[in-house]
Amino acid sequence: MMMRSYFLSILALCVAVLLPAMAQTPEDYPLAKSYAQYKAIQASLAADDYMTAREAIPPFIAALKSELGEREAPKLYRAAEKFLTADSLQKAREEFADISGRFSNQTDAYPNHGGYFTCVCTSVPGNVQFVQREKDITRCPYGGRANPTCGRVLSQSPKK
Ligand SMILES: [Zn+2]
Repeated sequence: MMMRSYFLSILALCVAVLLPAMAQTPEDYPLAKSYAQYKAIQASLAADDYMTAREAIPPFIAALKSELGEREAPKLYRAAEKFLTADSLQKAREEFADISGRFSNQTDAYPNHGGYFTCVCTSVPGNVQFVQREKDITRCPYGGRANPTCGRVLSQSPKK
């Protein structure tokens, strides 16, 4: 019994120490909150799922405004709002390309691109781009389910 309560208090201590540390991890890089939503949109488009992609747009805009400032990137905010009006997956991907170009302008402003990679799709014409923190491409938002790994890294920065 003594052993068990000792074990439990050690466990409680670990949880108390580790949980806040885990919760802080997403905050450790620039635009972390915005990127979490951007990534959700990207992943949904990679799954050919426009409706789920749409759901991340309002929190994406809110996160951008909180991290960049209400007036900092009006064209990016407008591009994100326009995504909501797309009437097809194809159109949504065109709007996402606009969002991505503007989002990468923001990440590029940080030293080492803030740890982001700007990637270009290699299966769709027009050099459409997207941004991600992983070097490997597993969810191309333009290739979709038919081609989730198409694309290559255009600009990169060393991971810290
Ligand atoms: Zn692609």
